Amino acid sequence: MRTSAPGLAARAASVAGSPVRDILALTARPEVISFAGGLPAAELFDTDGLRAAFQQALDGDTARRTLQYSTTEGDPDLRAAVATRLSGRGLVTGPDDLLITSGSQQGLTLLSTALLEPGDTVLVEDPCYLAALQCFAFAGARVVPVPGDEEGVDPAALEELVARERPKLLYLVPTFQNPTGRTLPPARRRAVAEAAARGDVWIVEDDPYGELRYSGGPVPWIASYEEAADRTALLGSFSKIMAPGLRLGWLRAPAALRRACVVAKQSADLHTSTVDQTAAARYLADADLDAHLVRVRSAYRERRDALLAGLPDALPDGSRWTSPEGGMFIWATLPEGRDTTALLREAVEHDVAYVPGAPFYSGPADPATMRLSFTTHTPDEIAEGLWRLAKVAR
Ligand code: PMP
Repeated sequence: MRTSAPGLAARAASVAGSPVRDILALTARPEVISFAGGLPAAELFDTDGLRAAFQQALDGDTARRTLQYSTTEGDPDLRAAVATRLSGRGLVTGPDDLLITSGSQQGLTLLSTALLEPGDTVLVEDPCYLAALQCFAFAGARVVPVPGDEEGVDPAALEELVARERPKLLYLVPTFQNPTGRTLPPARRRAVAEAAARGDVWIVEDDPYGELRYSGGPVPWIASYEEAADRTALLGSFSKIMAPGLRLGWLRAPAALRRACVVAKQSADLHTSTVDQTAAARYLADADLDAHLVRVRSAYRERRDALLAGLPDALPDGSRWTSPEGGMFIWATLPEGRDTTALLREAVEHDVAYVPGAPFYSGPADPATMRLSFTTHTPDEIAEGLWRLAKVAR
């Protein structure tokens, strides 16, 4: 007689889900003003344009192709359209340099599969995008945080860690980072590229937010620096610029790594949904994504400004926060001794929410930090949410 089910793999048992998820589940109530989610604003989705694109993808005999199995690399029209957008922004890219992925999150999984042996060292930002930490944990990697400041990773610290830890891979969200909103300046990008070349390290440049810029000027991708060209995998996504439900992203990588990722993807899901890829390609051909992005940026800029304007009165004296030029997030640090995880329960009772900063750290956490997203509420709602937050935080 069995007394218990057979065991899980060690990695499944050891990688934890998020401890704050239970509390955040309470924020689904409509009366809650949530700065917690990492969601784009649903009311800004171009539903008419996407509906028309799906209609076309399933029109007449086209449907017999779009409902069929397809190649792992992805829809040629979609790859061509993405390549044109990347080239137009200064990174010369051909359709064959790209693999379409099921969201950029899958790109992270494929790269982990292709590059990491258990025990390999991965360098990350401190704090770092949570689901990337989970992905590296599943791969059995040793994750080491690189110290940084309000401009991102510190090149001198990186150089030292590369020499000491012999990492396999460096993972960065250099533009409008999740969770901090900060952007790595061009001089540091070059320094990162040089350090990676000297230390023989792969760079994963994750860029889901780069097209959401509200102020300041563009910065080059790390992938565009000559030193980094042969060792950088660039991840992109339609989640924040079109709609995350499409689950469409792309991976641009040197040939050998891209081929390894194609094989890894075959074993994961054969290919990304043909219908969704065809619809996205139709959308890019027939609709005007850039005009749509002008509308999205203008709404998000207002929302970012509303959050920044309200923070001085909402947070206790001595707090500080980032002023991101784009993306979706502001990172705030309350005075020393405050604990945002403990505070969250009280905040939720007052119908306002944020994400405590602690889970984003792979090393020692600063418990006084929090991530605030400004995308899903109007400026008036943001002001109201900050007023509620002030009642518990000040
Ligand atoms: N990378 C970063 C830094 C993110 O913030 C996200 C989404 N929150 C992703 C990757 C995954 O995005 P998607 O799979 O929807 O493209």
